[in-house]
Amino acid sequence: MKTIFEPAKPYFKLLGNQKHRTGATYRLMNFVVQTAVDDGLLLLHNMTKEMVLLSKEEQQVFEQCPTDLPELINHWFLVPEDHDDCLLSRQYTNVARMLAPKKTHITGYTIMTTSDCNARCFYCYELGQARRPMTEETAQQTAEYIIKHCGGEPVNIEWFGGEPLFNKPIISLICNRLKEANVKYESSMISNGYLMDAETVKEAHDEWKLNQIQITIDGTEQTYNRVKAYIYKGVNAYEKVMENIGHLLAADISVSIRMNIDMHNADDLERVTEELHERFKDNKNLHAYTHLLFEDKNKRTGISDDKKRKVLLQKMRQIQDKMTEWGMYDRDSFEGIVRSGSCMADNDACVVIQPDGYITKCEHYTDSHHVGHISEEGFDEQMIAYFKEMGYDWIEACKHCAKYPACAVLKACPNCNECYPEMPEEYAREMQQEMKQLYKAHLKQEQEEAEKKAQEAEKQSQEVTEKAKPSAEA
Ligand code: SF4
Ligand code: SF4
Ligand code: SF4
Repeated sequence: MKTIFEPAKPYFKLLGNQKHRTGATYRLMNFVVQTAVDDGLLLLHNMTKEMVLLSKEEQQVFEQCPTDLPELINHWFLVPEDHDDCLLSRQYTNVARMLAPKKTHITGYTIMTTSDCNARCFYCYELGQARRPMTEETAQQTAEYIIKHCGGEPVNIEWFGGEPLFNKPIISLICNRLKEANVKYESSMISNGYLMDAETVKEAHDEWKLNQIQITIDGTEQTYNRVKAYIYKGVNAYEKVMENIGHLLAADISVSIRMNIDMHNADDLERVTEELHERFKDNKNLHAYTHLLFEDKNKRTGISDDKKRKVLLQKMRQIQDKMTEWGMYDRDSFEGIVRSGSCMADNDACVVIQPDGYITKCEHYTDSHHVGHISEEGFDEQMIAYFKEMGYDWIEACKHCAKYPACAVLKACPNCNECYPEMPEEYAREMQQEMKQLYKAHLKQEQEEAEKKAQEAEKQSQEVTEKAKPSAEA
């Protein structure tokens, strides 16, 4: 058995090896995902985050009598039939939460430069809300707030909106002030990409230190232009956004394409994937993923029509397979760390600053659930505690879902309904794809290290030979 990833520290040390129980029947823990590769069988434990490779011979043993591989029991891949996997996983996560170092500075900022936008998507969650741009005065205050609360540590900013570029001067203003105060920062952005022309890309790269941007593409030209319904007349918005993606990639900025999928655009998105591949072939900075649009946020099943959902999931798989084939698929199902929290909403080091200076913990809350204001010190502790409350009751399917150890959804999260009956299977499939990619990367790294060692050994032996040669003078 070969270890590809060690279990995440320090929690595994506390858990220790599992004791063997005489006479017990063992089964795989529910959070273990397996997938075959050329060299054997990969097993990934989503609770401990350990990944191992069983050789072809070990794979045969595993298939016939897995307990003949005692290491799998030691490291909790195999557990007794009556083991409560969910209970152990919750205890494991609780330990991670307790051991997580307390955060005293705020280093993660989501800044909403405006709640206004140049597009009019039908699914926008900000529809019907007031269109408020951040003023220069609030931007100045925001910069001062960051300087005061980051404790001299490097800062990560996510520019958010509405459309963040619809109030571009605010971004420059905040960055300039941070630079002046010697605050180190990097940034990312959620944008529709329309205003990211070549000149803006240069500024984004040089001044805003933008390293990643997420852009949503909802279909090919006609569908995209109809869904986005930009306020500009007589322009081909699709073509413009595609050009802008080219500028971003040329500037070495990572672009993540989000494809919101529902019945109206499923086929179209397959063509978008092909088009992205044709245009930006093999660009390592181009990534893409699909996101199922939910018709009813109040229903746990998301899309309640079983047939419709199954068709969509099938389409999604086809698209994801293409993305994987072309090396664009980007969904970090496996994080490799034991999470001590869910997201920025329950993370003391993160805040969301709204255009009017109010602070929240989640970008989906704009007009309510404020925890403070940039002009005041301290937070509403009751509201902070609310954002830390865990979400829904676990359902029967969770017991057999590999996602369970990483499925930490908060009560306040508007996405907490996003689980449907096929989710465990979908997640396992995503994990299998990712395991193969991670294994490939691991092999590549091993090969590079071996080549480096061989070169060093060769160099050393040449030096020894050189030294051993009698000098010309002698
Ligand atoms: S681009 Fe984003 S912010 Fe603008 S309307 Fe569409 S979903 Fe809303
Ligand atoms: S994805 Fe769904 S089934 Fe899986 S753990 Fe989360 S809530 Fe449970
Ligand atoms: S609560 Fe949900 S929507 Fe809000 S930041 Fe967390 S994951 Fe995102």
